[in-house]
Amino acid sequence: MCGIVGYIGQRNAAPLILDGLRRLEDRGYDSAGLAVLNGTGLQVRRQPGKIKEIEALLESRPVSGPIGLGHTRWATHGRPSEANAHPHADCSGSLVVVHNGILENYTALKERLIAAGHCFRSGTDTEVLAHLVESHLSGGADLLNGVRAALREVRGAYAVGVLSADAPDRLVVAKYGAGSGVVGLGEGETYVASDIPAILPYTRDVVILEDGEIGVVTRQGVSIM
Ligand code: GLU
Repeated sequence: MCGIVGYIGQRNAAPLILDGLRRLEDRGYDSAGLAVLNGTGLQVRRQPGKIKEIEALLESRPVSGPIGLGHTRWATHGRPSEANAHPHADCSGSLVVVHNGILENYTALKERLIAAGHCFRSGTDTEVLAHLVESHLSGGADLLNGVRAALREVRGAYAVGVLSADAPDRLVVAKYGAGSGVVGLGEGETYVASDIPAILPYTRDVVILEDGEIGVVTRQGVSIM
């Protein structure tokens, strides 16, 4: 169970996310990754190994955008590899999920989603969430309700963050049973993190996500349900 850091505001999200992930490094991890959204779509970079390797990757293949999610992974399902590193995308690549924890019923969900035509690219439990949300969005749900419906179907422990190119003004976060989740409020910018130290240099105004809560995070703040 490792780290999640997210940002929405006016600054370039990637350096802030990497800085936050670095502040959680002592929790241990085997892979790191991030996704940043701008007007041209989601840009995902991920890799097994240390955060400095992601930094090197970003030097050769930079990303930019004012909203993003990052993750450090400690593999529970699927070996450490680029394909298994988070964020995980849906079939269309327009939605990504980061997750800390374990989804116990992922095998049954994965079989059902594959039978429905979803294409999986990793060996993780996490990827089912991306496809579950996708299936609810294609059924007409908005991002909040799509994530909510997906989480009703999973059993296990999670802290999750979801970013969709179709809802570029928000992150959806939720937590149940695993780790912790915090939202940090700034001036026209908002942070999310699995642990407070990740965002302490940026804000001390934090909202703690309790078990079973889901939050919609925008530049203006967070609304929690
Ligand atoms: N179960 C997920 C995986 O294996 C998340 C692990 C974690 O908490 O880092 O990818």
